[in-house]
Amino acid sequence: DPRIEGIASSIRVVPNFPKPGIMFQDITTLLLDPKAFKNTVDLFVERYTGKDITVVAGIEARGFIFGPPIALAIGAKFIPLRKPRKLPGEVISEEYVLEYGTDCLQMHIGAVQPGDRALVVDDLIATGGTLCAAIKLLERAGAEVVECACVIELPELKGRERLNGKPLYILVESR
Ligand code: 5GP
Repeated sequence: DPRIEGIASSIRVVPNFPKPGIMFQDITTLLLDPKAFKNTVDLFVERYTGKDITVVAGIEARGFIFGPPIALAIGAKFIPLRKPRKLPGEVISEEYVLEYGTDCLQMHIGAVQPGDRALVVDDLIATGGTLCAAIKLLERAGAEVVECACVIELPELKGRERLNGKPLYILVESR
């Protein structure tokens, strides 16, 4: 798709952020380019229109940028999957392992109904640990996870192998 090149070139790579050795993929420069931002949303909307997706779950924080416009366009509800102690209602939690220590995603109980068909959205998949936790949360609540969608994949980290067989759709590969 000719739109992909413009999206890829709008992403800034920041070496040694947030720590030495990391090549950080910065999507804030994509957001500064209205054409690239629109094309990003459009590509996802085109893929998920007519697929009976009832819920788009966005992962804090950058899944909150790309998830809502997709949800609105395809007529699905939007659910924020948040870091601990942010959601005011009753939550279910899923811990996952990081390079150092653990992190956790939480979701409001009742946000998802059994039978919901879910799309999980984030900006980037690295090791896949975050998406794996998101999938588990949604499945525990009775949803069927149809697919995960990210703007960027770091394929060398083989994160897609951690998604329990769930399909992953990405726009840009980076190394
Ligand atoms: P994973 O759990 O797959 O190892 O890491 C993915 C999570 O970390 C995503 O929520 C993503 O936003 C964040 N992340 C890790 N590396 C980067 C990066 O280089 N750029 C951006 N924008 N996010 C990153």
